[in-house]
Amino acid sequence: MNDVCIVGAGPAGISCARELLKNGCAVVLLDRSPQPGGKACGGGLTKDAWELAGIDPGSVPDHARAFHRLVVGGNSVETDGPFVVVLDRKKWQAARIDELEEIGCDVRFKERFTGFSTGKVITDGGSFGCDVLVGADGASSRIRRLLGIRPGLVVRAWQVTLPAGHRVCETIEKEAVTVRFDHRLFGAGYAWVFPAVDGVRLGCGASNASLSAGDLKAAFFSWLDELGANPKDGRVQCGTIGCGYAGHRFENVFLAGDAAGLASPVTGEGIASALISGREVAREIVDHSYRSREIPRLAARHRRTHDVLSIPWIGRSLYRFAPSILKIPFIRTEAMGRYG
Ligand SMILES: Cc1cc2nc3c(=O)[nH]c(=O)nc-3n(C[C@H](O)[C@H](O)[C@H](O)COP(=O)(O)OP(=O)(O)OC[C@H]3O[C@@H](n4cnc5c(N)ncnc54)[C@H](O)[C@@H]3O)c2cc1C
Repeated sequence: MNDVCIVGAGPAGISCARELLKNGCAVVLLDRSPQPGGKACGGGLTKDAWELAGIDPGSVPDHARAFHRLVVGGNSVETDGPFVVVLDRKKWQAARIDELEEIGCDVRFKERFTGFSTGKVITDGGSFGCDVLVGADGASSRIRRLLGIRPGLVVRAWQVTLPAGHRVCETIEKEAVTVRFDHRLFGAGYAWVFPAVDGVRLGCGASNASLSAGDLKAAFFSWLDELGANPKDGRVQCGTIGCGYAGHRFENVFLAGDAAGLASPVTGEGIASALISGREVAREIVDHSYRSREIPRLAARHRRTHDVLSIPWIGRSLYRFAPSILKIPFIRTEAMGRYG
């Protein structure tokens, strides 16, 4: 069986490691950060990936909240069951890492991948042999760059997490996820308000194809000002999300999640795609004849949705009429049930 080194212990790395270990591979999972889950993220997870995330929406763990209601353009859209679970990523990832260690994964935090040559991985802690390398190292993936692939399409995102008792909480819906579409401010992107377990998250994101970095930053601070939120009251984070898929299999090197460019360029959702692509990459490693259909399908669908919404008159009209469009049951089910 294969010895596999996975770089990145985010959702893609975790999901890949789990599937490989289930199939008898020896796995080293490396991450440069000191502990799991510290990256900027809203933690919103739509239902297609709950099972892979180990989430039961009927009894969500203490570090998550499940929502039945979406507020868009001031209108409330209710679903029969939860449509999104908002996770505290630190706690969720820590729990998933514990499970991996219990089933024999060699997990190493504070170890940075620096390069590879045939059959060998090089880190700031030394070097070791492996048969297969998986780049699950996020949107600024070093492995992707070493393969000669540019980042391409990315979503840039800004977010502030305010403490639960912050004055902004008096004006926001606490039992719903709120989104704001506004082409003038956020281009083909949007803004979100997630009342999470660890505070309220206010964020916005847009693809580099639809808005410049400077315009997005200005939009974020002007929107916070409008809401009466002082960014100094919370933790401001920003980051990029990889959406430019250009393949995931390069002989014995694979890419998954943001490193493979599989997040949605419209919603910036990447946790679900990371979980799915991590599992699919593991299946390709275990069975040499297996070719994932799921990964190219995800990439194609994301690209298509982005291209359509980037046509200014279509994007503007869809966003403008979103509250009414979401009242149509089958559209509501489709749009709120999946990742971008
Ligand atoms: C502000 C913001 C809000 C977001 N909100 C949401 C949301 O609500 N829902 C959603 O689905 N998605 C959201 N996303 C996107 C989501 O966070 C990513 O798509 C998702 O984390 C991708 O998972 P991944 O496992 O591919 O990569 P990551 O989660 O980025 O994990 C990559 C890991 O690799 C490690 N790493 C990188 N380089 C090295 C190296 N050289 N050596 C060792 N380790 C390395 C990093 O430390 C990191 O832990 C958001 C992103 C941002 C920036």
